[in-house]
Amino acid sequence: MQKGSIRVQTENIFPIIKKFLYSEHDIFIRELVSNAVDATQKLKTLSSIGEAKGELGELRIDVKLDTEKKTITISDRGIGMTAEDVDKYINQVAFSGAEEFLNKYKGQNEANIIGHFGLGFYSSFMVSDQVEIFSKSYKENSTPVRWECDGSPEYTLEETSKELRGTDIVMHINAESEEFLSAERIKATLEKFCRFLPVPIFFEDNQINNPTPAWTRKPSELTAEDYQNFYKELYPFNEAPLFWIHLNVDYPFNLTGILYFPKIKQSYEIQKDKIQLYSNQVFVTDEVKDIVPEFLMLLQGVIDSPDIPLNVSRSYLQGDPNVKKINNHITKKVADKLEEIFNNNRKEFEEKWESLGLFVKYGMMTDDKFLDKANKFHIFEDVEGGKFYTLDEYKIATETLQKNKEGKIVVLYTTNPIQQDSYIQAAKAKGYIVVKMETLVDAAFINNMEMKWSDVMFTRVDADITDNLIDKSESSDSVLSKDEETTLKELFGFQIPALHVAVEVKGLSADAPPVVATRPEFMRRMKDMAAVSGPMGNFYANMPDEVTLTINGNHNIYQKVLKQHNKSKQERVVRNLADLALLSQGLLKGNDLTAFINRSVELMNNGQ
Ligand code: ADP
Repeated sequence: MQKGSIRVQTENIFPIIKKFLYSEHDIFIRELVSNAVDATQKLKTLSSIGEAKGELGELRIDVKLDTEKKTITISDRGIGMTAEDVDKYINQVAFSGAEEFLNKYKGQNEANIIGHFGLGFYSSFMVSDQVEIFSKSYKENSTPVRWECDGSPEYTLEETSKELRGTDIVMHINAESEEFLSAERIKATLEKFCRFLPVPIFFEDNQINNPTPAWTRKPSELTAEDYQNFYKELYPFNEAPLFWIHLNVDYPFNLTGILYFPKIKQSYEIQKDKIQLYSNQVFVTDEVKDIVPEFLMLLQGVIDSPDIPLNVSRSYLQGDPNVKKINNHITKKVADKLEEIFNNNRKEFEEKWESLGLFVKYGMMTDDKFLDKANKFHIFEDVEGGKFYTLDEYKIATETLQKNKEGKIVVLYTTNPIQQDSYIQAAKAKGYIVVKMETLVDAAFINNMEMKWSDVMFTRVDADITDNLIDKSESSDSVLSKDEETTLKELFGFQIPALHVAVEVKGLSADAPPVVATRPEFMRRMKDMAAVSGPMGNFYANMPDEVTLTINGNHNIYQKVLKQHNKSKQERVVRNLADLALLSQGLLKGNDLTAFINRSVELMNNGQ
């Protein structure tokens, strides 16, 4: 029997391991099962080149729980270790790393330590009073060994009897970690970290993993059904995804994975099921914030890269050059895929735009490289529905009618086709094309694109009277005299609480409404943004609504109004005309709405 002291200068490493190594203790399962997988894979390799002789046997990993003895055992049939191996790999190597680490990170914070340092096997001491290794090497005539350590720097190493090649790690779980002595807990932990490891893993006679998940296979071998099934495996309760991208890079970094575009109708649904990050099929995290570009956090699926450090910490990842490259690569792949679908199957692309638009718009706002590509496949939906324009197509279609005096194309949009119907109809009558901008992201998108698309501006269809929507600095004259205009303005001079009303008289076409209420684009945008943003938004949210009432001097009703000698009736008619306009903007509420209804009934009665 060999007795010795684990070679580490610092008196006791174990308290440090327990405290700092990993914030989540269940990671010991990931580390030990990963070691068992590595040992198994190494054996396969050695056997394939003829270095390991004899039968391989059933290459599987078994996790066993003994609640009476309070042990968890992880057994593999991999390469195993001789006494020399244990000495070299367990006694020495791990701790040379530990020494270096201690000198380097003395006094630094936990996140740094976790990010830079992994002591795989020794993570077992986070949950154990004592750990035993029983191992028999694949090498011919090797003697099986038993290593044992109780968490102090002293260990023992002795011969033992073990029939099968491979390694058993027996952990005697400590009092604070008894939570792990539950089959449910172990099963859940295995399912979290080991679900897609490449060697069959059994717990209580059930295999818990799928060793060949779709992303590890060649895209040419996979059918659409395989991709759909894998999605179901990841997110059993979700609707089928819209489509997917199979990532497969081996230079200048290694990356595989499948990203799915989920079906999303509402922005609040996002981020429920996140992208999972793996390293050689070992689950690392689903906090992929720094690896995946922000706007692609809406995607789902799996990314696997051995180039991403296993013990991820935020600060560490951000500085990692590989991570930056991975980020760019994913963005490019996603843009290419969208462009491909758009070019090859525009119909399908348009049908899925409702969900897709969200990714595309977020991407265009936050990533300029993506914007460049997306300009080709971002589409506007016509208010009629089912008809779509790219920006270029919209520009061509509106070239003659919707160019303003600065030469910019004015994109006319509606945020609510039903409420803004009368404005839409009026714009359409003039030959304008009105597009839908109805989702939560659109207000921000419009502001952002106006900065990026230098030759485009957006105007909501009810932002002004139709004639003025496209500022061409033309004006048509009203048939009224200056005096008559002044009289009308005075008649419209009433106050409406909570509204800021400006009145103007214009000569619109005779069949346009007598009064048109419009809300200036700028203020309305600020209020829209305020409605979805935090405390800063309150400032705008509390401002009164601004409305312009444009009196159409060419409407024949004013000839009658001006001739009306019954002052009270005149005022009531005028007020009703204004209220009708406000009603169409959704600005007539409460008492004002009631008064309007009563007044209308009265006027109809009097008219009889
Ligand atoms: P790492 O896995 O990062 O090398 P570990 O501390 O987990 O660090 O393991 C140290 C070494 O011990 C491994 O590299 C391997 O050589 C050996 N080892 C650990 N577990 C096993 C096992 N189950 N079978 C064979 N060798 C093992």
